[in-house]
Amino acid sequence: MTSPINASDRQAQKTFFIKTYGCQMNVYDSERMGEALVADGYTETAVLEDADLIVLNTCHIRERAVDKVYSELGRIRDIKEQRLAAGKSTSVTIAGCVAQAEGAEIARRVGVVDVVVGPQSYHRLPALVRQARTDGQIIATEFLDNEKFDALPVRKRARNTAAYLTVQEGCDKFCTFCVVPYTRGAEFSRPMSQLLDEALKLVAGGVREMTLLGQNVNAYHGVDAAGHEVTLVGLIRALAAIPELERLRYTTSHPRDMRDDLIELHATEPKLMPYLHLPFQAGSDRILAAMNRKHTAADYLELVRRIRAKNPALALSTDIIVGFPGETEAEFEATLEMVRTVQFAQAYSFKYSARPGTPAATMDGQLSEAVKTERLHRLQALLAEASTRFNAGCVGKIFPVLFEKAGRRPGQLIGRSPYLQSVYADVDVAALGRIMQVQISAAGPNSLAGVVCA
Ligand code: SF4
Repeated sequence: MTSPINASDRQAQKTFFIKTYGCQMNVYDSERMGEALVADGYTETAVLEDADLIVLNTCHIRERAVDKVYSELGRIRDIKEQRLAAGKSTSVTIAGCVAQAEGAEIARRVGVVDVVVGPQSYHRLPALVRQARTDGQIIATEFLDNEKFDALPVRKRARNTAAYLTVQEGCDKFCTFCVVPYTRGAEFSRPMSQLLDEALKLVAGGVREMTLLGQNVNAYHGVDAAGHEVTLVGLIRALAAIPELERLRYTTSHPRDMRDDLIELHATEPKLMPYLHLPFQAGSDRILAAMNRKHTAADYLELVRRIRAKNPALALSTDIIVGFPGETEAEFEATLEMVRTVQFAQAYSFKYSARPGTPAATMDGQLSEAVKTERLHRLQALLAEASTRFNAGCVGKIFPVLFEKAGRRPGQLIGRSPYLQSVYADVDVAALGRIMQVQISAAGPNSLAGVVCA
């Protein structure tokens, strides 16, 4: 357990810089680490070279994640030496999933690292940094029975009008390509009262849209104040009752956990945005079985049919892996066919890359980079056609747009449509943080432009 931080421990005017890699959950974790450091007396700097404490919050999902960390640490070593020559010390922390999986090895090989902290221990970051100053390099990658959310400081501020809220962590599904069950641990759902409390604080700070996060968010099963189990449906209903909170989203969902009442909620809860991220990963049943996804292509298509029957306006995004070990050309074609059938509004597609310690890493039939690259190009061309078509279909429609930040030109703001598209419009800066009706006038591959309705 962490010892409580008292005033004499606090850092005098120390600065920190956090570099975040990967998914929205890491963005959320970085915000919470930043808040813990601010509560400990640090201030944030946007300039890495000025930071007394540098934190790399790493991701293990993408290819060459460890290489990227090594290369960034090489640059940081030079900065640390330059700062030392100027009489300033620099503390370096690796956090996140790479830290959990391979942090100890990285720290052993690269002397520049002071603290390695896994995703379940980052509430201890300020204390660990202090401890490393006296004890030398610290490795904190134990699973601490989810004490993290109780130990983090109460949220005080919102960075934006749209915020993330981690409601669930970890995963028990053990897809054979994925490190999450090893780096984030078993599925854990935060209690509903804790989440409502955090949501109210964010809303009081100006948040109008909230995305509920979890590696397996639709498996959420927390408890309410009376100790009764609450599903994601119950949680969304409770959050939707907060008057100032105008929009809700959730990600990432597993097809097997899309229950009927959650599908129904997409038809009945107006605050729930009509946009759902639902990974299908591969179109071949043999590959899906080898991935341990526990659903077939037909199951997925039937699920999509049921969701669209309840809410025809709902759009889908997805994750797809190409070149899983043993994938034949015909099996890859099945993935293309799935894309043609479903017509995703948006998709994230990746070449399979082996993660050490996962079952797929040692499977027979690993494909060459050339085959994987060629298949990825074909897939992405098809996905780009579908998303361009989806965006073009928005022209002429009127969308409620939540304006979040200034555009490139004076007088222009950028907001989000219900489908998460960036929308550019000329509108007074007073619209920031507000939802306004915008008629879409033009569509590009990645964004829309529109005119605010009178
Ligand atoms: S369900 Fe998602 S997080 Fe869980 S093992 Fe599969 S890919 Fe990883």
